[in-house]
Amino acid sequence: MSRAFIGVGSNEGDRLACISTAVKALGQTEGIRVVQMATIIETEPVGGPPQGPYLNTVVEISTTLDPQALLAALQHIEKALGRVPSKERWAPRPIDLDILLFDERILNTPQLQIPHPRLHERRFVLEPLAQLAPDVVHPVLRRTVADLFSQAFNGSVAQ
Ligand code: ADP
Ligand code: MG
Repeated sequence: MSRAFIGVGSNEGDRLACISTAVKALGQTEGIRVVQMATIIETEPVGGPPQGPYLNTVVEISTTLDPQALLAALQHIEKALGRVPSKERWAPRPIDLDILLFDERILNTPQLQIPHPRLHERRFVLEPLAQLAPDVVHPVLRRTVADLFSQAFNGSVAQ
């Protein structure tokens, strides 16, 4: 059984409904159990074309899937929620599901990088992640999530 953290974002359509449908679908996937979910926050888009604000959160799961099978499951849910593949990076989307951390695993394939390569520089990831798992250690940077958050944003975790 592995412990993983999934970054969840939406900035198209009924954003709250997209997130709740996606999290429900995660929990209904064979081999995935949803453990906890952080507070949903509204954030400004980072990079990409002009687009509306996001709702973001992070979900902790426990899973018997391996990282590749987990990615396939996330992409299946994204597709079911009407996400069309875009050539453009960071385009608006009804739902984005990213694997942030997967145990202490480090993976660097063209399809899948774990930990997520931009995790430590994104407030919309670090803030909800720090709420759920401040003491989890980033296996590459060897710093806790709380450290990464306060280092990047001089922040304290919202209660
Ligand atoms: P982004 O999440 O950066 O906005 P996309 O959601 O469009 O970009 O994903 C593009 C590709 O990123 C996916 O097809 C997937 O193969 C790849 N990818 C690499 N690492 C990860 C990860 N840790 N989690 C999710 N997708 C990843
Ligand atoms: Mg993604």
